[in-house]
Amino acid sequence: MNSGQNASSHPKSSPNLDLQDRNTFGFDASAELAYEITATDQISGIMQEIAEKQLTWRVLGGGSNVILPKVLPGATLLMNITGQQIITADASSTLIAVGGGVNWHEFVAWTLENDLPGLENLALIPGTVGAAPIQNIGAYGVEIGEYIDSVEAFDSKSHAFVTLTKDACQFAYRDSYFKKNPHHYIVTKVVFKIPKLWHARIHYADLAKQFSKNSSPSSEDVFLAVCKIRTHKLPDPKVIGNAGSFFQNPIVPNEQYETLLQKHPGLVSYPDAAGKRKLAAGWLIDQCGFKGRRMGDVGVYEKQALVLVNHGNGTAEDILGLAKCIQDKVRKEFGVSLDIEPNIL
Ligand SMILES: Cc1cc2nc3c(=O)[nH]c(=O)nc-3n(C[C@H](O)[C@H](O)[C@H](O)COP(=O)(O)OP(=O)(O)OC[C@H]3O[C@@H](n4cnc5c(N)ncnc54)[C@H](O)[C@@H]3O)c2cc1C
Repeated sequence: MNSGQNASSHPKSSPNLDLQDRNTFGFDASAELAYEITATDQISGIMQEIAEKQLTWRVLGGGSNVILPKVLPGATLLMNITGQQIITADASSTLIAVGGGVNWHEFVAWTLENDLPGLENLALIPGTVGAAPIQNIGAYGVEIGEYIDSVEAFDSKSHAFVTLTKDACQFAYRDSYFKKNPHHYIVTKVVFKIPKLWHARIHYADLAKQFSKNSSPSSEDVFLAVCKIRTHKLPDPKVIGNAGSFFQNPIVPNEQYETLLQKHPGLVSYPDAAGKRKLAAGWLIDQCGFKGRRMGDVGVYEKQALVLVNHGNGTAEDILGLAKCIQDKVRKEFGVSLDIEPNIL
């Protein structure tokens, strides 16, 4: 790759590293011992050291999908491997290898600058490329699993680098093989396969509305529209701490959906790829009266009930307490369970 992969060096480790700026909730948190990873060949030695010291460990990317405790015990690996490179291109697609520490949104912008449209619906999602396959990031009708060719990772069980094909990654709605197997893999590189054939994917309500008078927008038009909608709807973590959607949209069998719809004609839902029904968790939460509500230093965002926020000095316990109130109420009102999306580290 064009940068970041060449710097074989002794890994930098720091005790008691402050992570308040490295988690988008802005929780006051620190890592007992942090290692900054800037090159793949540092990993084997670091993992050897971690095994010898019998430390627990986890990877931290941009910290935009985590709930951090006051102190993260053991070792925290800060993924900072950069670099991106087109590896092959033929008449049907282009393969691009990207370092796990590359900023996601900057990568999306880079693909468009290089005339490789496809990822524009996923613009402005915070975080790193290495974290994108973990929960199979998705937005506006597109999931990244569709565009992944393979993932390179360090396998902590076999102590070797492995390549997982797209099928092996088992991508599903906000889920993957990596998410099901925490503390197992360190994603170092993602290889994307971008098809040459492109069409705008603007079927999602917000985008369809935006392009009601232009049925054939360019990829740049879609990119700008996605950025505009997201900026309007979602709170900027630099201004108010949050991790985006706090709950996954629950998927229910059709019979349960029909029963709920009879009782609640305004129920917002979408068809699911597996033929079931995906309910809008934000709508369920809103109906329970939580939108804009505050509990101490945490709360529910006033413009979008799916987003929980830190008003200043909130903690992991505070946010999980609020989440439990919401889950209990939604279960009582609708008989539906809400799963938390961010990773509780
Ligand atoms: C305002 C806002 C909007 C958001 N919108 C969306 C959205 O539209 N769609 C969506 O899907 N998500 C969204 N998110 C969530 C988040 O941006 C994504 O999940 C993102 O991929 C997380 O990247 P990160 O680098 O910050 O990961 P982190 O938060 O650092 O980590 C997330 C998880 O992945 C693991 N991990 C991270 N990097 C690696 C690695 N290299 N190897 C192995 N494990 C790793 C961590 O251990 C942790 O379990 C949003 C978040 C915010 C704050």
